[in-house]
This record gives sequence, structure tokens and C-alpha cells, in this order.
Amino acid sequence: MNIRLCSGDEIFNADRKLIRFVQSEYELYDGVVTPQDSTLSLFDILLSIMMNSRLDTASKVQSIWKNKTPVEKALSHIPADMSLQDEHLSWENLEALFKAFCDIPWAGAAVSSKILHKKRPKLIPIYDSVIAIYINTCSTEAPLPRGSSEAAHMVRGIKCFRNLLLGSLDDVERLRGLPEMSRFPLSAVRVLEVLLWIENEGNAYYQVCPQCHSEKVIPITYGSPTPRLLRLAAAVKIKLGDESRLPNRPRLHCTHCLNEWGEFR
Ligand SMILES: [Zn+2]
Repeated sequence: MNIRLCSGDEIFNADRKLIRFVQSEYELYDGVVTPQDSTLSLFDILLSIMMNSRLDTASKVQSIWKNKTPVEKALSHIPADMSLQDEHLSWENLEALFKAFCDIPWAGAAVSSKILHKKRPKLIPIYDSVIAIYINTCSTEAPLPRGSSEAAHMVRGIKCFRNLLLGSLDDVERLRGLPEMSRFPLSAVRVLEVLLWIENEGNAYYQVCPQCHSEKVIPITYGSPTPRLLRLAAAVKIKLGDESRLPNRPRLHCTHCLNEWGEFR
């Protein structure tokens, strides 16, 4: 099943990519039941590690724990069932929430959204660098003035994400309704975010070849190969790209049919 986004991009084999993702990753993040209240428990914070939030030292976790009261207060102003599809959203409250979180040392857009997505799964997408870079390439929102806060950038990006979601909602709902997804309930926000992440992250995780539908897809790397990259290429984990192939260098390589596709952003 292919999805065409209002950004003009098409996601091929979206159903297979999504199913591969949930079969691998659902159990230890999305499938973990957590209360959608306005408190941040230690478990809420630590669960984000399963989405690679890089909270890898006690001092980083302590930093969030000790500064969580303003986040909890801002969260209490956002109803638990609020959805990004709702017609009337309080962007001010959402920006206040992100600001409270991003004011905490170590906690930028990625960390905060990996924690907050579980508190408001229908409203807040995980907004890591992969999603932010993609959104910036297709945003129709007015640019922000220089010096704007990270929270303001998050809200601008999520407004654009909302446009993408509303523009592809029928397809997203069709994906959520697939028989294979019945054991893996996800919000529409999460389905779209997962697909955008798969399409744009650099390691070809969960990719499927649009030509032969093989799952044997590896990333193409350009530039002078380091010893590590040479080892990875020898193990067919990556392909070393042809430097002379400018300007349209493909990003992904199918080791089954040798098809190459995808663009760098
Ligand atoms: Zn192929």
C-alpha cells in the first residue's frame, strides 16, 4: 500500500514498513501501558530510552526529575484525550509545555517529545532530528524570527506535521485498520511519524525495495571511506556510493535487485 503525502512525497509499501516496525519495536515502548495523566514518573522518563532518548547517565535523568514540576503543571492544561486532529487546539498551551521541558538541561525536542508522546499519544508526535529535518523541507508555515525558542520551532513543526496528517488521514486510518495491526494499536499521529521516520532516517531500518519488494535494503554512504565503513561495506551492511554520481545521489540500495533510490535531505 502506497501513501501520497500532501508534501508531494510518496511512501511505497507503507503497510509492510509499518508492520515490520511494530513487530520489532512495539512491545517495549508503544505497547507499554502508562497513564495519560499530568505527572511524570521515573518510569515515564526512563521509558523514553527505548526510543533512544540518550538519557544514558544518572545526572541526565536527575536533571529531568528535579525540574519536572513546571512540565507537570503545563501538562495539566492539556486534556488527556486531546488529538492533533481536533479543530481547536491550544497551540499556546502546547508551546508552554515544550518550553517547560526544553528549559531543562539535557532535554531538547527529541527527549521531551519521546517522553511526552506517551502522555498524550494522540497529540504529540516524537519530534526528533529525523522528523524535524523532514518537516523543515516541506513546511508551509512562516519562518520564525531569529532567536526563537526551541519550543516555538517544535510548535511550528508540529503544525506542519498536522497538515500532513490531515492530508493523509484516510490512508493512515486504513493502515491502522489492517488485520496485522490489530495487536498493535497506535494513534494516527504515531503511525504517520513512524512512517516519516522510516523514510528519512539514515540506516534503512524497516525499508522495503519499491521495485522488487525485498527487505534486503542497505544505506549508501558517500565520501572517503573510513576503516569502519570499509568493514561494513565488506559485510554488505552499507554500500559505498559512486562519488561521481552528482547531483542525484541515491540513498538506498536493494541487494536483491540492485535498485537504488531515495534522496538526501
Ligand atoms: Zn529490489
